[in-house]
Amino acid sequence: MVNEFEIKKQICDIGKRIYNRGMVANNDGNISVKISDNEFLCTPTGVSKGFMTPEFICKVDRDGKVLQANAGFKPSSEIKMHMRVYKERPDVKSVVHAHPMYATAFAIAGIPLTQPIMPEAVIALGCVPIAKYGTPSTNEIPDAVSEYVQYFDAVLLENHGALTFSDSLLSAYNKMESVEFYAQLLYLSRQLGGPKELSDSQVQRLYEIRRQFGMTGKHPANLCPNNKEGKPSCHNCGGSCASKGGCASGASEELVKNITAKVIKELGL
Ligand SMILES: [Zn+2]
Repeated sequence: MVNEFEIKKQICDIGKRIYNRGMVANNDGNISVKISDNEFLCTPTGVSKGFMTPEFICKVDRDGKVLQANAGFKPSSEIKMHMRVYKERPDVKSVVHAHPMYATAFAIAGIPLTQPIMPEAVIALGCVPIAKYGTPSTNEIPDAVSEYVQYFDAVLLENHGALTFSDSLLSAYNKMESVEFYAQLLYLSRQLGGPKELSDSQVQRLYEIRRQFGMTGKHPANLCPNNKEGKPSCHNCGGSCASKGGCASGASEELVKNITAKVIKELGL
């Protein structure tokens, strides 16, 4: 039995972390958690996510219709993009949306996060594509996000912000933190003359390590068709391979097994 009150408290705590790290301004951002197939807890519109208490949190059904909300609170109009992610990714239990400064700057400049510059970002995220611009509260954003939702756990929203999702609230939040840290490092290293990128083989090794860890979620390491041909993954296809229609099928298990065996041997594990 899910303890709803406990989850509401956790949502408030994550809201504080998002606000305190400057990942949102004003009343921006929203958080949701799936508690059953047709019940989702979500943050209300029009309040700072840094100062919420459990009674602020609303409950909606899978269509985003209000099941429960205290007087004065209603779900964010951006809940539509959360519901689309839940609908299309049954493994997802939580969705976080924010406007972190550096990640959003990249989303505004139209630059996806595709340069492999540090092991943690490659393992946790792979690369982060940009879903094309949509007017908030319409179906344009859910439609744009839908294009990437089967292939990634984090997407930038063009001229808007970032969206992350995972199998727990903490993990969805952590992905948002990772996206922002990656974007910040990429921005700063560009000011210092440009990053020295990890080599293709270094990226491949990190992808193999990710597979060995059995990490949950979707990641180009598991999906990019380039892998099937033994070529470097999405870091080399601009983070947009999903839209090129190539990523629909995962790399064959046989191939993954073979590469894993090779890497384990090479690493002397
Ligand atoms: Zn937003």
